[in-house]
Amino acid sequence: MRIDVITLFPEWVSQLEHFGVVGRALRQTRFTLACWNPRDYGARADGRVDDRPYGGGPGMVMQYAPLAATLAAIRQVRADTAPVILMSPAGVSFEQGRAAELAAGSGFILVAGRYEGIDQRFIDHCVDAELSMGDFVLSGGELPAMSVIDAVVRLQGGVLGDARSAVEDSFTDNLLDYPHYTRPAESAEAGGVPEVLLSGDHAAIARWRQKQALGLTWMRRPARVIRERLSAAERALLDEFIAEQAAATDDE
Ligand code: SAH
Repeated sequence: MRIDVITLFPEWVSQLEHFGVVGRALRQTRFTLACWNPRDYGARADGRVDDRPYGGGPGMVMQYAPLAATLAAIRQVRADTAPVILMSPAGVSFEQGRAAELAAGSGFILVAGRYEGIDQRFIDHCVDAELSMGDFVLSGGELPAMSVIDAVVRLQGGVLGDARSAVEDSFTDNLLDYPHYTRPAESAEAGGVPEVLLSGDHAAIARWRQKQALGLTWMRRPARVIRERLSAAERALLDEFIAEQAAATDDE
């Protein structure tokens, strides 16, 4: 897989190679991550790649030509039709399904905007998709691009120490993850851990975890839990969770 990133801060995005499982995967050349600075491709004589917006108003806009020249340089190296994805608050919200889709492909080209954004003509002519990290505004597309790269790279076979952790992660089966606990079993400040997890009864543990995942998703992402689509067993687990929840609230 090859990932290219167009960014005014290539040194920052390249830092991904230095940390964690994603860094290891990138270093082991399972992936190629290449960052491209538009300043190196078609900047004006003064080195700038931005200009004032037509129509007036605050801030600067990234110009079409340096972005297009950078993309052309990438296309020469890639020699494929990898999609160009712009990080943008106006994009569709980036979710796990999209990460899985991108992980199944042979790579993509990310564009990180800066300033007030980029000239619309680059979006119209060169961009295949726009992805948003959520309804908030960052000062640049670098963190969003790094988030996309992390989410995609960690899904590739062999990247996670235990392939099961990717499968069991939040959202892969449309549910949030169940709560995790590790030693000690008893903390003076924070109390104990759910009894069942210490039981060694793997079926009971699996059942408890599925119940928590269903319940947590039902509470926090209600739109994801469509009762009619649950199996009878899942519905029973969810009802159990809701009953326990109600009992706990009554106790308070
Ligand atoms: N003027 C724009 C904000 C530009 S922020 C507006 O009001 O919508 C500068 C750059 O940061 C954008 O071009 C985009 O690449 C990136 N960015 C900011 N917030 C983002 C978000 N929520 N998701 C993805 N990219 C974002």
